[in-house]
Amino acid sequence: MAQHKVTLIPGDGIGVETSAAMQRVVEASGVDIVWDVAPAGAACVETHGTPLPRETIESVRRTKVAIKGPVATPVGTGFRSVNVALRKELDLYACLRPVQSLPGAGGRYDDVDLVIVRENSEDLYAGVEFEEGSEGARRLIELCEEEGAGSIRPDSGISIKSISVTASERIVRHAFEYALEHGRKKVTAAHKANIMKHSDGLFLRVARDVAKEYEGRVAFDERIMDACCMNLVMDPTQFDVIVFPNLYGDLASDLAAGLVGGLGLAPGANVGEEYAVFEAVHGSAPDIAGQNKANPTAQIMSAAMMLDHLGEVDAAARIRRAVCAVYAEGAHLTGDIRRASGSAGAPATCTEFTEALVAALD
Ligand code: NAD
Repeated sequence: MAQHKVTLIPGDGIGVETSAAMQRVVEASGVDIVWDVAPAGAACVETHGTPLPRETIESVRRTKVAIKGPVATPVGTGFRSVNVALRKELDLYACLRPVQSLPGAGGRYDDVDLVIVRENSEDLYAGVEFEEGSEGARRLIELCEEEGAGSIRPDSGISIKSISVTASERIVRHAFEYALEHGRKKVTAAHKANIMKHSDGLFLRVARDVAKEYEGRVAFDERIMDACCMNLVMDPTQFDVIVFPNLYGDLASDLAAGLVGGLGLAPGANVGEEYAVFEAVHGSAPDIAGQNKANPTAQIMSAAMMLDHLGEVDAAARIRRAVCAVYAEGAHLTGDIRRASGSAGAPATCTEFTEALVAALD
C-alpha cells in the first residue's frame, strides 16, 4: 500500500477539533498517511511573529498536498488573510467546491448536485488597496479624474478589482476540464458584465472563447450574478458546474452551502499546477470553538476530495458512503444539523459524530 505525506494545518477555533476528527476517520479508512503538522493562524502571531510561518509554506512545497482547518482573519485591521497568502504563495488558482444534498442533513433541497469553481488569484481579493486619506488614494483619484474614468469621493478607501485574460482563461479552462473528467454536462459562467464592462466583461468574453473549444462535449451558458443567486435559491438543479470570478464565487459558495444544510457540510479544494490544499468552506466559528460542538463533515468530505487527488479513490468512496449512512440514520447529528433539519433529539458532539462515522465505514 502506498504511503502518502500530507501537510496538516489545524488552524484556529474549531479547526483543531474538526482536524482531529478528520485524521481519525482517514486513519480508520486504512490509508497510510504521514502527517506533517504545521502551524498557521492567530496563535502563531505570538509564537512565530506571523500568522503564516515560512516552515508551513515549506512543508506544503515538500509534500505538495495539504489539508487545513479554518484560520481566523481580523475584520478591517491586522494581518491580511492567511488563506489569501497561501493561495498566492502556492499559486492555488482554482477553488473547487462541490455542493451535494445529503439525505437527512436538513437541506432546503434533496437533489442538489453542483460544483462551484472559483477563481482564486485576483479580483477584489488580490488585496490591492489604498487607505482613505493616503497619498496613493489621492493620486489614484486624481488619475481617474484625468483619464475621465469617473470621479471618486476624496474621503474614499479604495480596493482595486482587476481581472486578467490569463487568470480568466485558466480558471474557465479548469472548469471545462473538471467537467470532462467528472462526467459533468454543462459549465455556466457567472458575471456582472452588464455593469463592469472592463473586468467582468473581459471574464465573460474569455469564457465564451474557451467554451468554443469544448463545443459538442460540454455545454456552456452564462448568467448575470444577481440572477444566478436567485436561480440558485429557486432551482439549484438547473446548474452543473458554475465558474465564478473570485468574490462572487466566495459569496455563492456560502449561499449554495445553505441550500444543502449549512456550512458544516461544505468541502473544498484549492488547487494549482503543482500543489493542492484541501479545506472546508466554513470559518473558525469562535462562537462554538473548544466545546466539542463542531460538525466535522465539511473537513472530512474535504479529506475525501484529497484522497481522490492522492489516488485513494476506494477509501474516499467508503468515507462518503459512511457519511451518507450516518446522516440517513439520523441518530448522531451535530447541533447545526439538528437545527437546520428541525429534527428532535440531543445534538451529538463532534467526537460522537466522528465515532459513529468510523463505525459506519464498510
Ligand atoms: P464561520 O464559518 O466561522 O461561522 C458562521 C456560523 O456557522 C457560526 O454560527 C458557526 O458556529 C457556524 N459554523 C461554521 N462552521 C461550522 C461547523 N463546522 N459546525 C457547526 N457550526 C458551524 O464564519 P465567521 O463567523 O464569519 O468567521 C469566523 C472566522 O473564521 C473569521 O475570522 C473569518 O475570517 C474566518 N474564516 C476562515 C475561513 C478559512 O480559513 N477558510 C473561511 C471563512 C471564515
